[in-house]
Amino acid sequence: MPATTVFNMEPPTAIETRGVSFAYANGLALTDITFAIGEAELVALIGPNGSGKTTLLKIILGFLRPSSGTVALYNQPLSSFAPKELAKQIAYVSQQPVSSFPLTVFELVALGRYPHSSRFGSSSADLLAVEAALNHTDAKHLGARNFTTLSGGEQQKVLIARALAQTARILLLDEPTLHLDLYYQLQILAALKRLCVEQRVTVITVLHDVNLVSLFADKALLLSAGTLRAFGPVSEVVNETNIREILDVDMKATEDGETGARYFVPRDPLNSRRVRK
Ligand code: ADP
Repeated sequence: MPATTVFNMEPPTAIETRGVSFAYANGLALTDITFAIGEAELVALIGPNGSGKTTLLKIILGFLRPSSGTVALYNQPLSSFAPKELAKQIAYVSQQPVSSFPLTVFELVALGRYPHSSRFGSSSADLLAVEAALNHTDAKHLGARNFTTLSGGEQQKVLIARALAQTARILLLDEPTLHLDLYYQLQILAALKRLCVEQRVTVITVLHDVNLVSLFADKALLLSAGTLRAFGPVSEVVNETNIREILDVDMKATEDGETGARYFVPRDPLNSRRVRK
């Protein structure tokens, strides 16, 4: 009998939380959050305002320490990473600040290289990473511009490029499509999707538009009042019931005959009463 080789085709777990709870001084923001996200998945983090999305991102980033429970990246406890090592694993794009960086786009994106920096200054690997990040976000033509002179959409692309230049294995984003026009929303989400597929980066992004979630995400994490209400493939989590009961909107699921895409339309757009009891 020939020896049998068993191949494990499951992707490694990139992010795992177990029983994570967190309280601010004024009360609990997260309660007993447990999930595992596989490498190269694009996960949408959705939930109403105040449901704990930003707090959860900050816990995964190590900015906040859970009151109880654990977080691991690639099976290694978050608490065991030194700051620079952690920055090689995980990059963050926060909600766009009103920025006044007096830097060119190229200089700003190069700041993303800080976990790789040495006392000898920039290496050719740093320059290549900055160029690749600008290419990936279609922002290369902006390289010499002063960051403060860019439009909101261009600034957002550059902030994502800065996170990509960090060449981390995990990327967290807090509403990256906020304030962007439709073209930039699609362009940014397509760039994130390519990152997952081509470079096996794992992405968690806060998104509010259930149609963008349905189009781009593999999985969805659905939070409500600090608890994890659902986690799994988008087609299972983003449905009429969850949209009604958790996001508080009465929407009808439809399938586009031409593209096969599933999308949601409000049943009564002129009457936006809360549907939750
Ligand atoms: P989301 O990102 O889903 O809007 P957050 O994580 O920002 O939600 O907030 C979750 C809860 O924690 C909310 O009730 C919010 O008011 C509270 N919260 C957030 N940040 C702080 C803070 N720094 N101090 C006290 N409470 C906070």
